[in-house]
Amino acid sequence: MMADSKKQVILMKGIGVSSGIVIGKAYLMDTGVVEPAHYCHLDASDIDREIERFEKALNDSWDQLNRIKKKLEEDRRGKEHISIIDAHLMILKDNMLINDTVKVIKEERVNAEWALHTVLKGVMEYFDKIDDEYLRERSKDIEHIVNRVLVNLTGRKHEPVAEIKTPSIVIARDLTPADTAQMVKGMVLSFLTDVGGKTSHIAIMARSLEIPAVVGLESVTRKAENGDTVIVDGTTGTVIINPSESVIDVYRKRQEKYADYGKALFHYKDLPCETTDGRRIHLMGNMEIAEEIDSLIEHGAEGIGLYRTEYLYLNRKDLPTEEEHVRAYRQLAKRMSPNPAIIRTLDIGGDKSIGGIDMGKEINPALGLRAIRYCLKNVEIFKTQLRGILRASASGKIKVMFPMISGIEEIRRAKAVLEEAKAELKAEGRPFDQGIEIGVMIEIPSAAIIADMVVKEVDFISIGTNDLLQYSLAIDRVNEHVAYLYEPFHPAVLRIIKTVADAANKAGVSVGVCGEMAGEPEYALILLGFGVQVLSMNAFSILRVKRLIRSVSYAEAKKICKTIIGIATAKEVEHYITSKLPGLYKEEFWS
Ligand code: PEP
Ligand code: MG
Repeated sequence: MMADSKKQVILMKGIGVSSGIVIGKAYLMDTGVVEPAHYCHLDASDIDREIERFEKALNDSWDQLNRIKKKLEEDRRGKEHISIIDAHLMILKDNMLINDTVKVIKEERVNAEWALHTVLKGVMEYFDKIDDEYLRERSKDIEHIVNRVLVNLTGRKHEPVAEIKTPSIVIARDLTPADTAQMVKGMVLSFLTDVGGKTSHIAIMARSLEIPAVVGLESVTRKAENGDTVIVDGTTGTVIINPSESVIDVYRKRQEKYADYGKALFHYKDLPCETTDGRRIHLMGNMEIAEEIDSLIEHGAEGIGLYRTEYLYLNRKDLPTEEEHVRAYRQLAKRMSPNPAIIRTLDIGGDKSIGGIDMGKEINPALGLRAIRYCLKNVEIFKTQLRGILRASASGKIKVMFPMISGIEEIRRAKAVLEEAKAELKAEGRPFDQGIEIGVMIEIPSAAIIADMVVKEVDFISIGTNDLLQYSLAIDRVNEHVAYLYEPFHPAVLRIIKTVADAANKAGVSVGVCGEMAGEPEYALILLGFGVQVLSMNAFSILRVKRLIRSVSYAEAKKICKTIIGIATAKEVEHYITSKLPGLYKEEFWS
């Protein structure tokens, strides 16, 4: 890959959420959100080039609209919309809009985006004063067309992820679960986003698909242009746009080292996951889509510890039928047999919205009608899924798990719906596992605090540390501005996890962790010391965590936990662990 020596080198630091190094070409995606125009003062010598850039964006917009118009003309149902496109085309030719923008570029020596934005503001203020609804509505058309030109000025593409035809580094402000679910490894080499944190769905999906990614870059959509050469280091969160040849060489070498590290880990694949003093830990896989099953098995997953079934509901306008549920879970049960698969019921809401369900607008979606709350309010949707899970349980070892439990009432209500589904199936003569194990996720502090009572209601519990951190530390998991507060070593988090693990162990109920903490060796060590015996994670992390478990003793891990529970800050905990176990859990390939 040749670097463009004329372009400015830009170094950016974000949150590395999925390991690996990629060198490739940028593909800027339009995800529907138009960036606010940014201000940039120009040198006199740059003015002509800026006007050319503006004219090119106008021409691109013109071509796009004509293409849309042609499509509408070919489609009988589209004809009625042609007049709107014609109106937009007329606005694009509007001399005032064009001439005024060029004038502002020249006289105020500002970039085209800012000039166009300034002109648009004036036009909008004028329209706001007009006392005529129809004319005021027309101002929306102008806004719409100006946004199109702004998007073209930044060079962003309008195609969805699935239509990317050449291997690229996808750059977007944000990506929806629907976008990430369509990502095909090979075409999407990596992705970079302005927003997001370590446990946002895009980060989780990147790890699952083993696509190196950096999120929370804040302004990468403004700094990179289509076709730029970009280096992504998903481990450190470093992004270099337009790197020099020598920097590319350095990263190529690191890329090779990383690949060797990945291969070396396979040495652990068939070795038992036990500590040096013989404590057996079960490493399971987290999955979102069926395509991940092979990779999880290849990496030695001993079952599925978390199937995020909301992905079955994505990229469609309707809801999955009972038969579709049965097919998906049955296929999974058969593939994993004799190992278990834990199917988590629909966890809609928060940063996961679904086409077939209108959630309405909530001011605080993370605290709103999410997950089990939604399901208990929409029992038919819930029961359809439960019937699917139950029917598939006749074909393998399936367990059911309820997300976002905040108290005992919710568990009992969810179990009651499950009982209803069982009774229906029985009456219909359909087979299912009568003793199907029931579990809940502990991811809300209220449930964690009463873990001793929760464990009396269920067969197993699984700690969802992503949400547990979000709710106990009051940090929005998708907000890059508070990502620095995501501290799994925070004493409060450690105490909560200990409380939950102690309660489960005392009651003899299986306790696992399926949040992202489980897949990071330094945190897995702590979870081990707290007495957690099931860890569920993405494919790549399985072997890294197994390597760690096999190199420590349970007694040592317990001793470490005894000490850290009395340490006051996350930084001090980290420091203590690093000093205790130098080099044990850090990424080998990086040294
Ligand atoms: C969690 O919250 O830790 C979890 C595993 O669930 P999700 O990331 O899907 O919310
Ligand atoms: Mg969760």
